[in-house]
Amino acid sequence: MDKYRVKPGTRVRLKDCDPDDTDGYKKGDGISKKIEKTELAVNQLQELLYAEHKHGLLIVLQAMDTAGKDGTISHVFDTMNPQGVRVASFKAPTPEELSHDFLWRIHEQTPSKGEVVIFNRSHYEDVLVVRVHNLVPKAVWKRRYAIINNFERALADEGTTILKFFLHISQDEQKKRLQERLDDPTKHWKFNPSDLAERKLWPDYMQAYEDSISATSTPWAPWYIVPSNKKWYRNLVVASTLEKSLKALNMHYPEPVDDLSKVVIE
Ligand code: AMP
Ligand code: MG
Repeated sequence: MDKYRVKPGTRVRLKDCDPDDTDGYKKGDGISKKIEKTELAVNQLQELLYAEHKHGLLIVLQAMDTAGKDGTISHVFDTMNPQGVRVASFKAPTPEELSHDFLWRIHEQTPSKGEVVIFNRSHYEDVLVVRVHNLVPKAVWKRRYAIINNFERALADEGTTILKFFLHISQDEQKKRLQERLDDPTKHWKFNPSDLAERKLWPDYMQAYEDSISATSTPWAPWYIVPSNKKWYRNLVVASTLEKSLKALNMHYPEPVDDLSKVVIE
């Protein structure tokens, strides 16, 4: 799964990243068992993160519409203990949020020790949608890469593990998924006509994603470009990456306050 990690300093070209890639795995092939096993392992590691109370975990999900941010959240994080997990969704900023620096609303939502927080969209919108729609001058969004790297560095130094996932789908796959939303009355609520306007800006978004990911994949906050045309494979990649990163924290259950071997329960 490490092959999806963007090495710091490399120039990303999304055209070279196949959204259909499944690394030779096929659906069937006992893949649901493998995903289940991975998710169970993640669940146990999350329990340990909560108990140890030393690290926070921040997961950033960015993607084009329909690429599966919601689906990833419900599948991969379903198995976690809700006591230690929170989702923060970032919409277009309110007037109050806009009157502050772009990280103001973000910092507030970052995980405390022991906590897992999933960002459904994030501060990256401030170099993506904001750039594509010219909401601020180029000089402003350009310098945000460095601001973001410094911010994430500070979080990491203070004990937050950061993993950033770009869920990569093709434009054809998006067409299919938007059509499914139109065809299924239970999905109409998810259909937003403005998604069609954004879809027209696909090349601009790809350019913005390439530049952002290239500039901000760092040793302390790496990006993963997750092939996401196949939902099961997307879930497998995200779950496996979580498992590996949590394992690497080498966590331990805290020592009991007293010598428990002497405790007698009357
Ligand atoms: P959704 O995630 O589909 O509910 O849509 C949220 C919308 O908020 C998307 O269209 C985002 O592009 C938009 N959004 C999120 N953050 C920002 C931001 N910082 N500036 C402008 N628009 C944003
Ligand atoms: Mg949407």
